[in-house]
Amino acid sequence: MPLDPERQAILDIYCHVFEKLLGHLNIFETPSIIDCDCYAIVRECFDPAVKEFGKNPPLTNDKGVLLQDLLKKIEGLFSFNYSSHNDLLDSFQRYKYLVLNTPILSPTWIDNSQEIGERLSCQFYSQVSSQKYQGLERSVTIVITPSNKTFISSVPQKSGGISEICLTFGVADFDFKTYVNLPFYFFHEYLSHIHSASLFNECNLTQTSLFEDGWLIYIAHHKYENYIRSNPEFAEELSHKEHYLKSYIYSITDREKGNNHAQKGYELAERFAQIVGEELCHKISLLLAMHDYDSLPGYSFLHTKFLFIVNNWLPRYFKMGEDEKKDEVELMTLAIDDQEPLKSVLELME
Ligand SMILES: [Zn+2]
Repeated sequence: MPLDPERQAILDIYCHVFEKLLGHLNIFETPSIIDCDCYAIVRECFDPAVKEFGKNPPLTNDKGVLLQDLLKKIEGLFSFNYSSHNDLLDSFQRYKYLVLNTPILSPTWIDNSQEIGERLSCQFYSQVSSQKYQGLERSVTIVITPSNKTFISSVPQKSGGISEICLTFGVADFDFKTYVNLPFYFFHEYLSHIHSASLFNECNLTQTSLFEDGWLIYIAHHKYENYIRSNPEFAEELSHKEHYLKSYIYSITDREKGNNHAQKGYELAERFAQIVGEELCHKISLLLAMHDYDSLPGYSFLHTKFLFIVNNWLPRYFKMGEDEKKDEVELMTLAIDDQEPLKSVLELME
């Protein structure tokens, strides 16, 4: 579902400005100014300029006009904050030249991010399943709607029909961090909400779930980090991508600022992975994600029950002797190759 032409043009120029910024963020490194780095410049010049621009954008869908207006606002903040730093002002002129002299991309970063997210989730699920996993065949439509807050969510249809991934676009609320993390956000939607089996929480979408929005965020974080680190195309931007990913993860898992459920689920997965290793942790997590919440007899609400079992298993594990600990992980490694792997792993930990 497309946005109206005016808002679409705004989204396109935000992506254009941020794409050039991500590719050239290093030119704003500022060893000469104490307490200032390129991220501070994003915070002080780019994000506030977008906010100000978005509150009262020119009423046109002419991208050239919109771009000039936005750049003027960014430049204004540069001059205000760094008037005595000619090197920085020069860097801004170089950046501005690039923005104005390269075509605005189509398809946009939104399309690319969606494609990356979907592909990573498909690859990931295919790793654990030798048979064709039905969840990967769901049809999805991307709906972009205007709002005053930018966020991404899903309306999954697990028993037929078309699932939706909804990007609500806040014209004055689309910051650089959101832009950089978009592929990760899509990856999370596909991994946790679209490709996963029927999860109990889908009956009550207003609640953040420990498993999909906590435990599986940990899994996605780890997988996505490996993806950006191993991609030579991202070498130049890698440290910035890592910086903004970390900042996002911190915002949802922080004990004070984050969401309680997301934080608890993420933390449990992290501890579990530290003990059994990332590979085994990924395998178990994906197997769980591929099972409906009521598919294992004796384990109603499978995913919640699994987290409960892990929560009780961890203190027991820490009390074990070194040999016993080794045996426990060894048994788990064997159990995952069992006829009924999930049942065996759960029984082992109970
Ligand atoms: Zn989610």
